[in-house]
Amino acid sequence: MEPIPSVDRHQELREAVRALCARFDSAYWQRIDAERGYPEAFVDALTGAGWLAAMIPVEYDGSGLGLTEASVIMEEINRSGGNAGACHGQMYNMGTLLRHGSEAQKRAWLPSIAAGKLRLQSMAVTEPSTGSDTTRLATTAMRQGDRYIISGQKVWTSRLQHSDLMIVLARTTPLAEVKRRSEGMSVLMVDLRDALSGAHGGMNVRPIANMVNHETNEVFFDHLEVPVENLIGEEGHGFRYILDGLNAERTLIAAECIGDGYWFVDRARRYASDRVVFGRPIGQNQGVQFPIAETYVEIEAANLMRFHAASLFDAGKPCGAEANMAKLLAAKASWEAANVCLQTHGGFGFACEFDVERKFRETRLYQVAPVSTNMIFSYIAEHVLGLPRSF
Ligand SMILES: Cc1cc2nc3c(=O)[nH]c(=O)nc-3n(C[C@H](O)[C@H](O)[C@H](O)COP(=O)(O)OP(=O)(O)OC[C@H]3O[C@@H](n4cnc5c(N)ncnc54)[C@H](O)[C@@H]3O)c2cc1C
Repeated sequence: MEPIPSVDRHQELREAVRALCARFDSAYWQRIDAERGYPEAFVDALTGAGWLAAMIPVEYDGSGLGLTEASVIMEEINRSGGNAGACHGQMYNMGTLLRHGSEAQKRAWLPSIAAGKLRLQSMAVTEPSTGSDTTRLATTAMRQGDRYIISGQKVWTSRLQHSDLMIVLARTTPLAEVKRRSEGMSVLMVDLRDALSGAHGGMNVRPIANMVNHETNEVFFDHLEVPVENLIGEEGHGFRYILDGLNAERTLIAAECIGDGYWFVDRARRYASDRVVFGRPIGQNQGVQFPIAETYVEIEAANLMRFHAASLFDAGKPCGAEANMAKLLAAKASWEAANVCLQTHGGFGFACEFDVERKFRETRLYQVAPVSTNMIFSYIAEHVLGLPRSF
């Protein structure tokens, strides 16, 4: 069968990423999923080829590409049947360092990240007691001389065990002492090798077994010392820095969902064309083909919003609404496509060897993380449509 047509730009980039992904077949991802393992060989190959350094500027030894190209890389991983969730953190976490870090910090970390010697895969924002209400987070980082002392707890901190550096959002000024809830939080770069050694206070990590093969953890900070040189940007402005990075994160996740969506549509149409029941291919029945066609339409539409958001971001223009809408539309479309693909496969959709059930689980995550669908509706209602603030 011919590849399914899609809003298809950056053909050369796509083909290069596709060639790399082709070395990691279905059996590879099935094995990693069954073992609840980390796709080390895949991430190493991606890093070695320079794809995870796509957004690092050339002066720090990266490729100096934009969010658009980075999103194409992420899309292709998922479109090939893989899972970019194992490594997408590096693409967007780095943006925080890039946009708000000092020259000394960029020189210290970016070339090593670009060379694959350091991984910046992890970002700890979510907390168990406050969830989506980020401005009420309870983890504190109190300055004592040339150190910040971090105490508190995070949850769902992903890829920590496969990262060297982690971005942490913590309160540096108590909530009672700030004018606005969004003030008084700061971003600190935690060197995980140091933190986990126990040499400068405590940090304990407890993995969370979950529905997807996604390495994610509870993290307990017990007076962990971090040098003040690791403060990113200015103290007290961390929430804004994290929000800045979220537009990139949402656009990249949208691209991954779109990659998933095309994968589901492709698998569904192939199966529907081959599987013969009642003497004809099941795809000849409109009850089977229409839902596949419908999800394809939705993915194509979401894809346009994704490219729109990415191009605004790359032009340095505001893109909060577009990035949120792209993420919402893409996550919804990929989930619908997952459901249709599973239904099209009948019982075989549940068999691990078809990959459908794995991708079904993987794509479901994106209606909840990194931001849940209701939070996007709330953002659009309040900030785009001017409706009264609900919380
Ligand atoms: C596998 C996985 C990986 C993750 N990785 C990371 C990571 O690396 N770093 C990190 O910081 N976080 C991470 N997260 C956390 C993720 O960002 C949060 O789970 C998500 O933002 C939702 O927060 P919550 O789980 O606390 O849900 P809650 O805030 O408790 O919300 C629960 C539900 O209620 C809804 N809700 C809450 N308040 C309202 C309201 N006012 N109006 C309408 N609906 C509302 C929400 O939309 C949601 O559906 C990860 C989560 C998962 C599952």
